[in-house]
Amino acid sequence: MGLKLMCVVAHPDDECFAFGGALALAADRGIETYVICLTDGQAATNRGDAATGAALGAIRRDEFRRSCEVLGVTQHELMDYQDGRLESVEFPAAAGRLVERMRQFKPDVVMTFGGDGGLNTHADHMIASMLTTAAFHWAGQEKRYSDLGVPHKAKRLYHLTAKFPIPDRPTPMMMPWTVTLDIRSVQKRKTEAFREHVSQAPLMERTRDFFAKYGAEEFYTLVATDVPQPARHTTDLFDGLS
Ligand SMILES: [Zn+2]
Repeated sequence: MGLKLMCVVAHPDDECFAFGGALALAADRGIETYVICLTDGQAATNRGDAATGAALGAIRRDEFRRSCEVLGVTQHELMDYQDGRLESVEFPAAAGRLVERMRQFKPDVVMTFGGDGGLNTHADHMIASMLTTAAFHWAGQEKRYSDLGVPHKAKRLYHLTAKFPIPDRPTPMMMPWTVTLDIRSVQKRKTEAFREHVSQAPLMERTRDFFAKYGAEEFYTLVATDVPQPARHTTDLFDGLS
């Protein structure tokens, strides 16, 4: 059995602008990937030609699918939570849906945002982080959600972090990273995936200089693992796993 990576995000485009390098690198190594996006992005500032929230949601669902295809994502799913409202989801139920998928897919590695909410400190990103972190632990525990499949313990949980804040935006309280990913070999693909989000083109424009300067690397922090160890720095999310 090959390695498997699960990634949980909040909005269509998170999968590429935040995690695109890690996902494309995994695809190149034949690692199976599953991206879960919790909302369809109806509350976005950039709305393209969409007249209603529902229309924007439909457009962004399609953009998400195309972006995942560019990144070589094996399996992707867009859930039905309200964009901008993840704070008010019923926590145990939403985490349970992730537990169920973790038990079905059986990832070795899970990744999501950090508790800071990522570079733009979005509250939806924070809640995605907390739901995924809870689900990661609960998926392996027999007493939790015993009606939602056989317990599965993924081996590692990573949170996304960053080395530099985006200028003119609120500065997140960034976690120290333990993994520096050199994504130069897939950087073009990450940009191409971002381009599939046509409705978010103004965002791409605004962040162009930032990604040109810092886009060769992604940063992650190992936040949970089955092997007790001191924090150490690596350059691979899967080092030592086979
Ligand atoms: Zn987002």
